[in-house]
Amino acid sequence: MVALTERQRHRTHAVRVGKVVVGGGAPVVVQSMTNTDTADIDATTRQVLELARAGSEIVRVTVNNDAAARAVPFIRERLDILGCDVPLVGDFHYNGHRLLSEHPDLGKALAKFRINPGNVGFGEKRDRQFEMMIEAALRFDRPVRIGVNWGSLDQDLAARLMDQNAAAPDPKPADFVLREALVRSALDSAAYAERLGLGADRIVISVKVSRVQDLVAVYRELARRSAYALHVGLTEAGMGIKGIAATAAGLSLLLQEGIGDTIRASLTPRPNEPRTNEVVLCQEVLQALGLRSFTPQVAACPGCGRTTSTFFQDLADRIQTWLREQMPVWQIRYPGVETMNVAVMGCIVNGPGESKHADIGISLPGTGESPVAPVFIDGRKAHTLRGERIAEEFQAIVEAYVERRYGRAPADA
Ligand code: SF4
Repeated sequence: MVALTERQRHRTHAVRVGKVVVGGGAPVVVQSMTNTDTADIDATTRQVLELARAGSEIVRVTVNNDAAARAVPFIRERLDILGCDVPLVGDFHYNGHRLLSEHPDLGKALAKFRINPGNVGFGEKRDRQFEMMIEAALRFDRPVRIGVNWGSLDQDLAARLMDQNAAAPDPKPADFVLREALVRSALDSAAYAERLGLGADRIVISVKVSRVQDLVAVYRELARRSAYALHVGLTEAGMGIKGIAATAAGLSLLLQEGIGDTIRASLTPRPNEPRTNEVVLCQEVLQALGLRSFTPQVAACPGCGRTTSTFFQDLADRIQTWLREQMPVWQIRYPGVETMNVAVMGCIVNGPGESKHADIGISLPGTGESPVAPVFIDGRKAHTLRGERIAEEFQAIVEAYVERRYGRAPADA
């Protein structure tokens, strides 16, 4: 298991968001955001449920107008009736001060308010509207996330820092000044919230940018200069492999340094792609780094000229999908099963060896090999499968293994 740094264990404040603790050395929390119209109660409730069932521990919803503000308490109520207690976070821009004042049930239904200092209001209204958001947090006894974003940086602050830099004897590059403006926007706003009476244990901060190296630079700076709990994510990460790679790279670099108390993957789903992929990606990053375990891991070889059929790819996919689908039930019935390792290998070259290293593994026959598939359990050959039903039989063997190894003894049940 990767050793977390002292910073993550001890330095950030623990912030309670509903039933979830963010920071203070608590396990890194996975969160996500809906992309439905929040005013559509049915669609939003459905998507929150999907995200929560996929493992999102906090779900953020857009609260952009009166219709959305009216809908949130109903969404909360429906989730509660359905037994889903995932905390909801309200994402506010421009009018959050008004919506929270005019819809008292909204503040009660939300577990946290997200405030973007760059979008809280403009000119002389800015401070007053920020104050109103903090007053609402105090009134409802809720934490806030002060979430700065590259695309909506406080332009007054950025211009002021640029001017100061231009007048300095040794001006820094514009990128450096912009990053400093992002960090200052978050830290100054958090300090202001504290002066208004909100405790540091009620504040999470984030500074989201869209380039990995900028992300690493700003979060290192936030971690060096503050003890606020940190929400980490690459914004506008993009679609497909590009978005996944950039998100995984950014999160991993920071998490490996112990920076980050809660994470989100801002992937752009392709049409009809499940929104839950952003949850799965966060979980896979945390599990790959050895920070948390969510679902049994399937090791599969990439395949090569020694295996010309797609059978082992199909089996690896089938087993991986099936294992993830079982987790909502298995995590309750079989504690510890999320740490199980399964191997699905394509031929004799690495198949038996990798399968022996796994808790349970199968080595399928490569091209020209005898059509048998040895199954290894806890390092020992336990079965030899052959014929048309290898996939079904292997799945049944895995299921029996899970029951035997992770099932509670009757006295504990
Ligand atoms: S285990 Fe066999 S099929 Fe898989 S990559 Fe290695 S040599 Fe190729």
